[in-house]
Amino acid sequence: MFKPLTMVDEKKKIIRSTCKEASLPLSKRYRDLIDQSIKHLTYSQIDKYAEKYDIRPGTALAFPQIGEDVRIIVIVYEYEEGKFENYVMVNPKVISHSEEMIALETGEGCLSVNREVEGHVPRYARITVTGYDPDGNKITIRAREYLAIIFQHELDHLDGTLFYDHINKDKPFYLENEMRLI
Ligand code: ZN
Repeated sequence: MFKPLTMVDEKKKIIRSTCKEASLPLSKRYRDLIDQSIKHLTYSQIDKYAEKYDIRPGTALAFPQIGEDVRIIVIVYEYEEGKFENYVMVNPKVISHSEEMIALETGEGCLSVNREVEGHVPRYARITVTGYDPDGNKITIRAREYLAIIFQHELDHLDGTLFYDHINKDKPFYLENEMRLI
């Protein structure tokens, strides 16, 4: 039986705190929460399930958003219509990044932010992230474009940062010649 997860709102303290490193291999409780997160995010991106369970569409989440003070992120990336790729990373770190910055043309959203916040969020166009799988094996992922943005958004959550912290208050929108918008 599927039961949607409850997302923690940005007003709660855990959303603004620095999360603890997870000990590896992960406990059964965290593994179960990862499975539930994958299911939740997958269903949220399929219209009929999103409606049936009344869940807000989302691509990814970080554990503080489900009330867990630990450095774990889960991404369910729809790389092709109806096809999903999952990324689970424990204690992730960016080890290198491009100089080039990009931003989503439409701005970013967040499952913990229940309001529209307008503005471009500058992100690295390409990043290399290392971390661990739930069993404690080291993994390295190179992400670019949209997937790189998702990783940076989720990694920020582990240090209490929200996407709108990166928006320039005086000039929230970049011009095409100032930033590559995707
Ligand atoms: Zn978020």
